[in-house]
Amino acid sequence: MSIENLLQSLSELEQKSQTALAAIDGPDALEKFRVEWLGKKGQLTEVMKSMGQLSAEDRPKVGARANEIRTQLQVAVDLLAEDHQNKEWAKRLESERIDVTLPGRKVSGNQEHPVRTTMEELVRIFEKCGFMPELGPEVEHEFFNFDALNIPAAHPARALQDTFYVKGYPQIVLRTQTSPVQVRTMLAQKPPIRMVCPGRVFRADYDATHSPMFHQIEGLFIDTDVHMGDLKGILATMIRDFFRVELKVRLRPSFFPFTEPSAEIDIQCPFCEGKGCKTCKSSGWVEIGGCGMVDPEVFKACGIDPDKYKGFAFGMGIERMAMLKYGLDDLRTFYESDQKFVSQFSRWRS
Ligand SMILES: [Zn+2]
Repeated sequence: MSIENLLQSLSELEQKSQTALAAIDGPDALEKFRVEWLGKKGQLTEVMKSMGQLSAEDRPKVGARANEIRTQLQVAVDLLAEDHQNKEWAKRLESERIDVTLPGRKVSGNQEHPVRTTMEELVRIFEKCGFMPELGPEVEHEFFNFDALNIPAAHPARALQDTFYVKGYPQIVLRTQTSPVQVRTMLAQKPPIRMVCPGRVFRADYDATHSPMFHQIEGLFIDTDVHMGDLKGILATMIRDFFRVELKVRLRPSFFPFTEPSAEIDIQCPFCEGKGCKTCKSSGWVEIGGCGMVDPEVFKACGIDPDKYKGFAFGMGIERMAMLKYGLDDLRTFYESDQKFVSQFSRWRS
């Protein structure tokens, strides 16, 4: 085949392809065209195969012409593909048009969890009594969680089955109480101190009244002249504000390593008001936490002179307080993320 013949064939091909291009009416036809004209077995490739018969001098001329046609066709195919896609989008937008005049779906959001509501309420009550809220880390060093609180190395609370330790760091624990925040405050501030520390704590425990993660609030009051009567007065004020009803408070002797003397805090059962019911096991009293006068050893560990200062501390579980206020008997319901449950207790925020 001569160069003239080949160039003639290419020109004919070009014309035919333009006619075929003009007839394309959709994505399927476009794809068929692409395969037929630009594919490995397409017409253009077939013509170029005959180039081998040409002289080395003529070959580039035919090659250049063939590439010119190929490029033209490729550009045309790309433009058509884009055009088809745009039309497709326009069709979808038209068919999926949104009626903005329809009323919207009700969105339930910004509902507060009862644990959070209870925690903020308690903090607010203590703030009114002059206690400043303080926060601390949830992952703690043993010193703040145990040592400074007069809890010796052999104490059962430090055992692996009760406390979560951080793997590879034997002195780092998930705090088992909010008391390390008291230690940090005593080390950072000078008496007089009045503080409350709300927050998450962690213990290896799980049943109807225990969860591996729960919330506590603790308070600390340090001054030169403080006694158990002040402690009981603050607790009675808090109980009255929180339950909105006058309930008796009872301090029952107990033992904690960080307070001396120590006491359990009992309140008159809010359900039967002391008459005896299932919740209070017919005793008329329910326990809400622990308290006591700060042990001089704790003051020494925190750089406070125990001869000059006295102090009291108290702590309670926030879930426990919420359960007593709302009449719940299973602590685990707080953590089941049940919207219907949560929405019964939470206040709405705008
Ligand atoms: Zn009762």
